[in-house]
Amino acid sequence: MLNNMSFYNFMHKQILVLVALFASTATSYVFFGIVYSSYIIEPLWYLLVLAVSYWGYSLHKSYSKNNYTIKDKEKWLSKLRYFIFLYFSTWTIMFIVYVSRDNIELHYLAIFTQLGVAVVATTILVTEKRLAIFILTSSMLPITIYLVLIGEFYAYVIAILTVVLAWVLLYGSRNTYNYLLRNQFQAYHDYLTKLGNRRYFVELLEDAIKIQKNDGKYMYLFLIDLDHFKTINDTLGHDIGDKLLIEVADRMKMLVKLNNNTVSRLGGDEFCILSAVYKDKNMCLEIAQEFAQELLHVIKRTYIIEEHHLYISASIGVSIIDNPKMTANTLIKEADIAMYEAKSKGRDGVILFNDELSIRIERKLEIERLLHFALEKGEVTLHYQPQMSLNSEIIGCEVLVRWNNEQLGNVGPDEFIPISEQTGFIVELGYYILEESFKTFSEWDKKGINLEQLSINISMRQIFHTTFIEDVSKLCAQYLNQQLSSKIVFEMTETSVAEDISKLIEIMNKIKQLGIRFSMDDFGTGYSSLSYLRQIPINELKIDKSFIIELDDIKKDTNMVKTILNIAKNLGLTVVAEGVETEMQKDFLIKENCTILQGYYFSKPLNREKFEEYVANRLKK
Ligand code: C2E
Ligand code: MG
Ligand code: MG
Repeated sequence: MLNNMSFYNFMHKQILVLVALFASTATSYVFFGIVYSSYIIEPLWYLLVLAVSYWGYSLHKSYSKNNYTIKDKEKWLSKLRYFIFLYFSTWTIMFIVYVSRDNIELHYLAIFTQLGVAVVATTILVTEKRLAIFILTSSMLPITIYLVLIGEFYAYVIAILTVVLAWVLLYGSRNTYNYLLRNQFQAYHDYLTKLGNRRYFVELLEDAIKIQKNDGKYMYLFLIDLDHFKTINDTLGHDIGDKLLIEVADRMKMLVKLNNNTVSRLGGDEFCILSAVYKDKNMCLEIAQEFAQELLHVIKRTYIIEEHHLYISASIGVSIIDNPKMTANTLIKEADIAMYEAKSKGRDGVILFNDELSIRIERKLEIERLLHFALEKGEVTLHYQPQMSLNSEIIGCEVLVRWNNEQLGNVGPDEFIPISEQTGFIVELGYYILEESFKTFSEWDKKGINLEQLSINISMRQIFHTTFIEDVSKLCAQYLNQQLSSKIVFEMTETSVAEDISKLIEIMNKIKQLGIRFSMDDFGTGYSSLSYLRQIPINELKIDKSFIIELDDIKKDTNMVKTILNIAKNLGLTVVAEGVETEMQKDFLIKENCTILQGYYFSKPLNREKFEEYVANRLKK
């Protein structure tokens, strides 16, 4: 059935067309009444037309004024149908009056207007098939009966022609109706899964917001995104991907039907569900949680598609419709934010949108935006944290990036580095850090600040960027000589273990040809295995500070640090302990023969000037 928002808008406009048409043409009857000296019936009838016109006009007005929900609109439509039927019937009254008069000209006029009414009914009411048929019959039948009653040959022929005309009108209007129906289906549905599409869903949501506003009731909204769907598309092809989507949609449809919810496909592997209506917010929340778990369970059951056994999970973001000031798009955005949070928490889960999440996401977006201009505005600087030998001599430093934004203040690298990795800004930022570090290192060398190593953190995304090898080679050639290059150490974190190890090894080996060494940062916290450690060509391990902190606690096991030191020794690697804060930690590490120490015990990261002072003071001692 045609019953979406554009349909109601269409009907609402049609009333005005009808009222304008009928109220104006009806005056001609008053005119004929005067010509044929009939002063009572026509004006009375015209008053009737005006009264019904007024009813139509007030129906039109009430639709424009009130923010109707779909249910209200359905009620409104049934009133509208009565109005239309009555309105068209007024003409039949005049038809009967005129054909019963002796005056033959008026008979012609009556037939003509009645035919006109039939044509108007079928054109204006294309979307209201049944009503159109009803009105067509009620206006054409009197003509046919009248013609038959004349009982003459020509009248029979015209009667037959009238029936043929009625049939043609019906046929045309049915075709138009079917065409509209198909068009509407295409405009509001997704061709693949036959579910409603984004447009359909947005209208549904707008309606839900009105219900919340008018009745104070609650509904929940799910945004469901399949996990790693792209991999299935890429590895098994789009045909299988499409079949999987259809199957997922079918399972959702079944489940949704049982719960009186509605599911739509927003596009790609993204689906949306709108719940039934609940009186109580807590109940709504509870049911949302339960339903989400049930949905995840159903989605995760194995799929068998063309002999492939497929498995897929989903991430679900939930938002609650509890505020009439929301718009459909902000609600979808909220659910989207929650869904992304579910993804970043490891996928296959459900997250409910909340304000804390919104603040976090907004901050993230703000960082993303402001970071973009950080380099050109000169907001990014480098700090240097000393690295010490076992006899407390400064032998090197780690470069640590700092960002001070006038709006956000100091933002730590733990916060903005992951964001720049996600956005890809790390490539530009990483290049800047490399260039600044190399430049500083070469200037220090000229100033007589001779360090044995300069450690620079490098992100995986940066390493895998197509221009990385080229950039590093170029910068080495520009700022460093062979001896200085061999003092550079690139720290990479094992938390971001590369998926493509052989590619990583290839890149590392090319970089090593420049003399640069590699260090495994935050060792012990990530996912790397011993075999991974043996495969990749690293020279140094950095024990993560979380293990160093534990050295202070007599109750805690110190075996972990000893084990890491042993592994390093066996693999012939240098070991740096980072996060050394106390004498006790330092002494333990010296006793266990760790190679290099770094931490607040010696110094916090310092800006360039302070670092140079620190080195100068140490040398004086
Ligand atoms: P990381 O490479 O493990 O750096 C060590 C972090 O520990 C630094 O934090 C440093 O300030 C802090 N730290 C050093 N000594 C101590 C100590 O004694 N106690 C404690 N509690 N902390 C100590 P920071 O500077 O906030 O950097 C955090 C992380 O951000 C770094 O961890 C690194 O993964 C990343 N990062 C920093 N600079 C860069 C950079 O230039 N490029 C890239 N790609 N990542 C960077
Ligand atoms: Mg580091
Ligand atoms: Mg570290």
